[in-house]
Amino acid sequence: EKEPPLESVELPSSEVVSVGDSFGIASASDELSRLRQQVLRHRFNPTQLRKYKRTDFRRQVLLDRLAEAKRYSRLTRARIAVPFGVQPRDAPVRVDTTMSHTNLDVVRLAIKQLGWRECPSGGGDPCEICWNGLSYAENPGGEDSCVNRFPGIGDLLHKVNLSRALETMRRLFPEEFGFYPDTWFLPHQLAEFTQYSEAAAAEAAKSGQPAPCYIVKPDAGAQGGGIYLIRSAADYSRQQSGRPLSHIVQTYLDSPLLLDGYKFDLRLYVLLLEADPTPRVFICRDGLARFCTQQYAAPNADNLGANLMHLTNYSINKRSRAFVHGNAETGSKRTFSSVLRQLAASMGDSCDVLALRRSIERLCVKTTLAVLPELLVNMRQRGATVGQSPRCFQILGFDVLILSDLTPVLLEVNSCPSLRLDYEVELIPGVSEYFISPVDVQVKQALVRDSLATVERWMLQRTDQKATKPAAHSSRSEEKIRQNQTAPSNDLELDETENMETDADPGTDTNNENDLEQDMETEQPDQGPIVESEPADSACTIGCMTEIFPGSGRHFDLQRLRVLEGLADLFLTACGGRRGCVKLGATAFRGLARKCSLQRVCGLSMADANILYIDLQRRWEYLSSDPTGGICFQAFAEGFFKMAENFRMGGGQSRRDSASMLDKVSSLLNHCCDCMGLGEKQPQQSLQQKQKINHQQQLPTLVSKSDSNRKRKVGKLAAEIREEVLILPEIV
Ligand code: ADP
Repeated sequence: EKEPPLESVELPSSEVVSVGDSFGIASASDELSRLRQQVLRHRFNPTQLRKYKRTDFRRQVLLDRLAEAKRYSRLTRARIAVPFGVQPRDAPVRVDTTMSHTNLDVVRLAIKQLGWRECPSGGGDPCEICWNGLSYAENPGGEDSCVNRFPGIGDLLHKVNLSRALETMRRLFPEEFGFYPDTWFLPHQLAEFTQYSEAAAAEAAKSGQPAPCYIVKPDAGAQGGGIYLIRSAADYSRQQSGRPLSHIVQTYLDSPLLLDGYKFDLRLYVLLLEADPTPRVFICRDGLARFCTQQYAAPNADNLGANLMHLTNYSINKRSRAFVHGNAETGSKRTFSSVLRQLAASMGDSCDVLALRRSIERLCVKTTLAVLPELLVNMRQRGATVGQSPRCFQILGFDVLILSDLTPVLLEVNSCPSLRLDYEVELIPGVSEYFISPVDVQVKQALVRDSLATVERWMLQRTDQKATKPAAHSSRSEEKIRQNQTAPSNDLELDETENMETDADPGTDTNNENDLEQDMETEQPDQGPIVESEPADSACTIGCMTEIFPGSGRHFDLQRLRVLEGLADLFLTACGGRRGCVKLGATAFRGLARKCSLQRVCGLSMADANILYIDLQRRWEYLSSDPTGGICFQAFAEGFFKMAENFRMGGGQSRRDSASMLDKVSSLLNHCCDCMGLGEKQPQQSLQQKQKINHQQQLPTLVSKSDSNRKRKVGKLAAEIREEVLILPEIV
């Protein structure tokens, strides 16, 4: 039977097979119909081949399928044009939840509410989104898929690293970075801390006050573990549980805002989208407030060890008999919005809730911008193209303490905030049971759902060539969210089968999840009304997620804080742009000094450069497992600031002493960027460009860049496929 010419072959979309440049056809013969069945049964994408080692049997299975498909194509001598790897616009977004771990419940709920599809076994085509419950692992979906982790961000947010990044920014913008307590790293800075604490104690004694208090936290600690209060450096003990540990010590903020006499802190959720060329920061409208279970009193000799009074950690307080579970308004864990309502009710006009929200937002943006340069270093060293974020997003948990004068203070940032919806109660010693926590459900399900919808909109923006206005990208998910918000959402239960790929792993144990979902049916729905009314602005808001940077321009003035991104470029260039290299070696440092004529402009001879390098290495070795490997970005920044202090324009006069650190650093950075051929990367210039893009609220540059990139990738991929297997002439 003569086959119809290629152009006239039309298959219903259900019969479309995605194989490389794709092909498929109908035919009459038995052999052909057998093959056709085979081909249509297995959705297959050649990018999967790259997931498996050559020795992996799964690779062979895929190759066999591909061979069948090719044979089918050869016999039918026809092809159809299916755009490579492109999902139809109205197809549900698929989420790979294989690695979701403890996030599975909340992610599943979000998928259900958005009408998306869960791929619990991850098999088949790469999903559009991969949800990873732990730290960053390579994106299993490859470059076309989006993963909920940025590479290396977990390390950057460890207590010591975060403090360092904030300290670096504080030196440039002292008036903007006062929201973090004074911090020392012990035992490394024990001498400085001892000196400071003695001077502070003497000062306090003069005015008849008790010596100030300090809080000691293990660097790698979490959930309040190993934390204690001290009054002097002499009380510090490096040994804990018989092991020497590194710590940070901070001034203890002894006048927190109290509610009903109890200390509390806030857990607020921030979504970071994209980092390069411009980070987009969203904040979740609601969050959690975690209360102590013992009434607060300023620290004194008797209560220094009272953790239930001074530490707000859930993991510590849940063990107390006084802990009240499950009430969003009066319990020991409440919603942020309910706390705002209570504050407004109890403090009246003296509590400007809107101003408090704004200052918290600014704190979140500034903190994000502080870690951004090092995040860019991490991403580019993993192969990300300049100006082109890999497809990552991440929900970060900001812990914030409100002081009695309503000033928010940052305590820490959690890169993997808990997204659990349940809590554990020990019924009798050794026997625990899990219950749904309505407060967690209320906050976290909206958080994850709306974050995913925000990510979907971003993915559309990145891929849609015709996109000119973000407003045009209202996705189906956003519609769903709107519906969810208007209709009471008592559909918290998950229909196991409804949103799953049919190839679900039969071995997956979903019993516990079923129980959990059934329990949830009885729980209360989504967010309640928020107390204060916000003035309308043009911020991009999807459900409970509002863009706070660069967004509406609400915090637009913070653009000027992005100076150190230029330094990150310089650091990377000095490192030689080698993939995987996150440290600057001595030779590269000397090379930078030579190329930038630092002897002429900063008076830094080669011998001085060597001494400076060794000093930096020594000062930062406590942060590095392999100090011989070179210095990290933060150490480089410290050295750069030192050099900037002596910078003389044109080798002439040293910059006026009155010039601020920011001026000095910017001037030296401009000079070095020129010398290293990074002219267009000068901070001022790139800042202006960025401002222009952000101000217009448009993403045309991003879109066109990503498109051309995608085309390049597709071309590259096609070439690889041709290499891997023999593709027939009629297919190619
Ligand atoms: P962890 O990561 O172990 O939870 P945190 O830095 O969050 O450590 O501190 C634990 C708790 O200690 C906080 O929730 C807060 O209640 C209290 N805390 C931490 N730092 C300070 C501080 N500088 N002043 C007052 N209280 C603090």
